[in-house]
Amino acid sequence: MSVNKPNNTFASTCCYCGVGCGVVVTKEKNGAVTVEGDKDYPVNKGMLCSKGINLQYTVNDKSDRLFYPQMRYNKNMPMQRVGWDEALQRTAAVFKTFIEKYGPESVAFYASGQCLTEEYYVINKLIKGFIGSNNIDTNSRLCMSSAVAGYKMALGEDSVPICYDDIELADCFFVTGANPAWCHPILWRRVEAHKAAHPEVKIVVVDPRATDSCASADLHLQIKPGTDVVLNHAIGRLLIENGDIDLDFIQNHSEGFEKYKEAVLERALSEAAQICGLREEDIQLAAQYIGNAKGFISMWTMGLNQSAVGVDKNLSLINLSLITGHIGKPGSGPFSLTGQPNAMGGREVGGLSNLLAAHRNLNNPVHRQEVQQFWGGTTISEKPGLTATEMFEALADGRLKAIWILCSNPLTSLPNARLAEEGLKKAKFVVVQEISSKPETLKYADVILPAAAWTEKEGTMTNSERRISYLSKVSEPPGEALPDAEIICRFAQKMGYQGFDYTRSADIYLEHARLTAGTNIDISGLSYEVLKEKRSVQWPYKANKNVEGPSRLFEDKVFYTPSTKAVIHPVPVAFRSERTDEDFPLILTTGRIRDQWHTMSKTGKVNKLKKHISQAFLEINPADAEHLQIAEDDLVVVNSRRGEVRVKAKLSASIKQGVVFLPMHWGKILGSDLNRANNVTSHVLDPTSKEPDFKYCAVNVQKYKKP
Ligand code: SF4
Repeated sequence: MSVNKPNNTFASTCCYCGVGCGVVVTKEKNGAVTVEGDKDYPVNKGMLCSKGINLQYTVNDKSDRLFYPQMRYNKNMPMQRVGWDEALQRTAAVFKTFIEKYGPESVAFYASGQCLTEEYYVINKLIKGFIGSNNIDTNSRLCMSSAVAGYKMALGEDSVPICYDDIELADCFFVTGANPAWCHPILWRRVEAHKAAHPEVKIVVVDPRATDSCASADLHLQIKPGTDVVLNHAIGRLLIENGDIDLDFIQNHSEGFEKYKEAVLERALSEAAQICGLREEDIQLAAQYIGNAKGFISMWTMGLNQSAVGVDKNLSLINLSLITGHIGKPGSGPFSLTGQPNAMGGREVGGLSNLLAAHRNLNNPVHRQEVQQFWGGTTISEKPGLTATEMFEALADGRLKAIWILCSNPLTSLPNARLAEEGLKKAKFVVVQEISSKPETLKYADVILPAAAWTEKEGTMTNSERRISYLSKVSEPPGEALPDAEIICRFAQKMGYQGFDYTRSADIYLEHARLTAGTNIDISGLSYEVLKEKRSVQWPYKANKNVEGPSRLFEDKVFYTPSTKAVIHPVPVAFRSERTDEDFPLILTTGRIRDQWHTMSKTGKVNKLKKHISQAFLEINPADAEHLQIAEDDLVVVNSRRGEVRVKAKLSASIKQGVVFLPMHWGKILGSDLNRANNVTSHVLDPTSKEPDFKYCAVNVQKYKKP
């Protein structure tokens, strides 16, 4: 199947979630596009969710687009339209001045899991290979960095072991800290269809809220936030006691079991149940479902990742697959769902401040040398760069002088938004590369660079099952907007760096593919030509084989650790979140709603998508609401030690008592910053992954009273 189809139709991939559904984009005579699901695409077979099916409205509506570069020479000046040359020349001059005066760590790039792989690649090459700092981080830090660390520690590398086709081969799904019915809908439809055809398939959902994913579940474990490690250990203990473990796998293909066994046997089931706020028999039932399964898939996302103990939660869950030997075989494996469309591609090019290209390690001198020689630039620093939240703190305290933000809206998406705002206020120089005139960050910009949107540029993305797809360019960007990779390369040339004179996006991809040769994610046989012909392939795709796959990893039971064995970690039970007390007695958790995406800069333009839920709200258990004398639709104030949010109350028995929920999407793009959940969230980080604790902070809630 070829990418370019007749009648001016083009193959592409949905630019929202990590499921990575294939779409066909048709360009009409008037330049507008229509989008439909690609019936031939293996991921979605023509299906699209509410967000994907409305993609064309976000593309066709250009009313909010940025059309030309703008700049101001000092913070008191208004922004003025300038040419690309002037904007990039001045930006390069400012960056050079800071680098000369304060060193390469005085500048940073903050990017996005929505960037194409080619964009990610050139930004990393620029800052790590030429500027000489590792200050590149992305909003993927907020999303899956705990899963990256978990996979690396357990399997030796950041590698999702399963493929989507394993769904139809599994007979037990343990879905924890995820609501795929709303957040990964097409993947979830495959799970639901499988369950409908095979009612004996068991689904367990672990969540403090009874979400739509629970509708298909055999068992909902309404867990107390923050207690996942205790639950996973309790299940591990039961699996051991019931003899439902794989001794051959444990003895021959893993290490660490004895210490793990000691750790999980420390706590009695009754105590674990009490800590987690669950019934003992429900935990026993979950262990029984897993123990009886021939194919066991654990699925997780932000509920585990966005936590002060996110890596521990990941490891304790992966342990369940390892002790039962449910990895590297059909219908089995620990499966982290990625939130963003190309978070995986970003990981492949080393797109976080602690990673290096092609899953190489920043702390490995041989790896640094390999990449440095390949790029021909400066010495790659061994010091990890600043992570997402750390960058904004460093702006606030003056360590960081300049930041370049692209494809992200950090003032709505970062935790403790006031702190992030403080950082941008104090920054000496801010570059914002954006498609839309709406994000709050623009207010703080010294230079605004208009970027091309989805369908206005070509490139590649990788979805949650390591499937790389080619996205066609359908139309020219409006005004003077340019593809993100081209902007970065033009800037690099203004800085005087060699190796950024690509004439085609395909050449960036080929360079990236060459750099993966000999690694575990080897795609050296891949080019745009191959991708256009095949439409998509799963890595690896080696040059000497020119074949895809294997699509399921670790079938040979050889892992990427030095010993080639998977590591079972005896994860300690720790609590690092903000504590509730008399003043802030409730636990706040945040998350997505079905029809909105991130900070709504795209989905917020589609009226149809507002019909599902049109405004921010606080979900609260009726018992808590009664105690606080709050009724449905009352305006309430949610206070934490950092700020406040004012929204209407939505009473729901589906949320656990003592826990309240705010959707993460709202901010100034639609509405005011008073409905921004991150006014109150905590910026406590997981010490290893540096992922923020979005799923746990202490708040109080009161009915709003006019002053
Ligand atoms: Fe797009 Fe994800 Fe919906 Fe598929 S499931 S259409 S990738 S938002």
